[in-house]
Amino acid sequence: MAQTSATVDDELYREILLDHYRHPRHRGTLEAPTATAHGHNPLCGDEVDLSLRLHGGELEQVAFDGQGCSISMASASMMAEEIAGRPLDEVHDLIARFRALLVEGKDPSEVGDLGDLEALSGVRKYLARVKCAMLPWVALEEGLSQAEGHGG
Ligand code: ZN
Repeated sequence: MAQTSATVDDELYREILLDHYRHPRHRGTLEAPTATAHGHNPLCGDEVDLSLRLHGGELEQVAFDGQGCSISMASASMMAEEIAGRPLDEVHDLIARFRALLVEGKDPSEVGDLGDLEALSGVRKYLARVKCAMLPWVALEEGLSQAEGHGG
C-alpha cells in the first residue's frame, strides 16, 4: 500500500468508505415494508430509497436502494448495517449521535462509539458533503415517523 502524507486514520477511513461503496450492505428493497422513504440531494444528485420493517419495538429489517456519490452510498450502507435488528430507541439514539458528530461538530469522544460510521467524520469540514452523508439518515427519520405514527 502506498505511503501518503495522510494520517493513519484518514487512510483507514477511506478504506472503510470505499469498501461500503463497492460492496454495499442491505442493498435492495424489502417485501411488505412497514414504511418507505425517499431522499434526494439536488446539490449532488444523490437519490436514496429506504424500506423499513418494524416489529415489536425493533427495526427488524432495513434495505436501501439508490444512486449517488461514494459518501451518500457508503453512509446508507453503514447506516443499514448499524441499525438492522436494533430496538427503535437505540436507532433514534444513533441518529442523534451521528448528527451530533457530523452537523453539530461534536468530538468523536463525546458522542460515543459509532463503529464504522466514524469513518464519515472526515466529511464535516465540507458542508456539501455533510448533506451527502446525512441524506439516508434524514430519509430514515422520515420513514420511522411514518411507521411509528401508524402505531408500530
Ligand atoms: Zn453526494
